[in-house]
Amino acid sequence: MDRNANRDILWAPWRMAYVTSADAKKPTVPVEVRSDGDPSCFICQAVVDEAAERERLVIGRTEATLTLLNRYPYNNGHLLIAPKRHVARLDLLTADEWSEISAELTYWVGVIERKMNAEGFNVGLNLGRVAGAGLPGHLHWHVVPRWNGDSNFMPTIGGTKSIPQSLEAAWELLRRD
Ligand SMILES: [Zn+2]
Repeated sequence: MDRNANRDILWAPWRMAYVTSADAKKPTVPVEVRSDGDPSCFICQAVVDEAAERERLVIGRTEATLTLLNRYPYNNGHLLIAPKRHVARLDLLTADEWSEISAELTYWVGVIERKMNAEGFNVGLNLGRVAGAGLPGHLHWHVVPRWNGDSNFMPTIGGTKSIPQSLEAAWELLRRD
């Protein structure tokens, strides 16, 4: 098998078919975001809507960061780690934010290894819409767990992808105790 081709497919969001039923569970009540936030940004909404962690798929918070499951996962346990502030550029992050984001990346990789027996990870950042960022205004790191043989589940051109574990189950499993 051509491993590189597989990786290209994994990171090609324009090929990703949205096959989950997650839309049906999206929170419909907009909340007022922080003064530095963007009301149309789902991360900014999740930052303030602490009463709807499950609906918004939030699994962890620190002082400066938010971690949530990707509603349109490339694989089970695909999560997003973001600063709480709505910033689009790396050079706008403070040293404290950088430090918390690094700690969260390390923490969540460990959790997924332990709880989901992941065998590898793709960790990445899409900067800007041309680079594939679906939400270019708010920085977020993708953590995508990988398993031996998961290429069987990877999307092919024009095809669909099945996510064997539901978002709900992944939220229950991963959220910070
Ligand atoms: Zn935002």
